[in-house]
Amino acid sequence: MPELRKDPIVDRWVIIAKERGQRPHDFKPEPASPGSGFCPFCSGHEGKTPAEVWAIRENGSAPNSEGWQVRVVPNKFPALAIEGGLDRQGLGMFDMMNGVGAHEVIVETPNHDWKVGDATEEELSKVLWAYRERLLDLQKDLRFRYCLVFRNYGQAAGASLAHPHSQLIAIAITPKRVKEELNAARDWYLEKERCIFCDVLRQELAMRDRVVLENDHFAVLSPFASRFPFEVNILPKRHSHDFTTMTDQESVSLARTLRETMKRIEVTLQDPPYNYVLHTAPNAGATAGPPRADRWTTLECDFHWHIEIVPRLTKIAGFEWGTGFYINPVAPEQSTRFLQEAIIVEEETPTLSHPR
Ligand SMILES: [Zn+2]
Ligand SMILES: [Zn+2]
Ligand SMILES: [Zn+2]
Repeated sequence: MPELRKDPIVDRWVIIAKERGQRPHDFKPEPASPGSGFCPFCSGHEGKTPAEVWAIRENGSAPNSEGWQVRVVPNKFPALAIEGGLDRQGLGMFDMMNGVGAHEVIVETPNHDWKVGDATEEELSKVLWAYRERLLDLQKDLRFRYCLVFRNYGQAAGASLAHPHSQLIAIAITPKRVKEELNAARDWYLEKERCIFCDVLRQELAMRDRVVLENDHFAVLSPFASRFPFEVNILPKRHSHDFTTMTDQESVSLARTLRETMKRIEVTLQDPPYNYVLHTAPNAGATAGPPRADRWTTLECDFHWHIEIVPRLTKIAGFEWGTGFYINPVAPEQSTRFLQEAIIVEEETPTLSHPR
């Protein structure tokens, strides 16, 4: 019998069609690499991107030249424009505003063939450091209510370039998905005076059915009502609403956790395309001014930042589109076991230094 499961945080049901009994090798993910050709993100091609806004560089090498380790540039084809006012308008019953925002690309390494699952902790710490620095900088701009960091890997996941990169979009509106989580977390907190994410962590770590891995600082869980096969979330075990407040030690630990999680996904599913998104608190500074609906005053108590990782193994079709329901052919308990059993060789990384 298929099962309907409701996500404990957002109001979303999924169908877990576990009798389909799909195993990892039943999925034939499209090849992750979107082909070769000239790569504007490779070292030596700095002139082919817009001028960099931030970089980690060795030996004081000049901006927009070689010698960088992580490099952030504006997206050459941005979805939003950085200059201008919001200019809200009503067009009859319709709402409009200017497409103001920032759209940046975080080029994670000069190495074209690098993979998160094979990275060193030091390399990944630098990428996480770049996320943090760009978030802090963009949040100074009070037009931007939300900044989303995300990573598309593979053409089927929306990556148009193979070179390892993440993206950051800062936007003047709190996105719907994030708003749903924020509202649900606030309502739970107002009723119980507990963080709903901490409650999920406590219960999952006690039950152990959906814990892919756990260390001192982080837990990697398959959501009870996973929408997609092999979906996992990384959550800090310490309650924290804001990714940018991570300690140096937690940041190194997150690098290790992210690498190990991605390695398990790569090994189990043969290097599938995937997306991950960072859900951190909205821009607190942008909440000044008159009252409005998307302001959350108890954020520090009720929101809990996390990373959602979704391998792109199935396609969203008419039923999902028409209903907002998802059909997941793999029970999360089962995908957890496959990911736990993936044989991975943990590299020893002698240096655990932090880029700060
Ligand atoms: Zn490249
Ligand atoms: Zn919490
Ligand atoms: Zn989330």
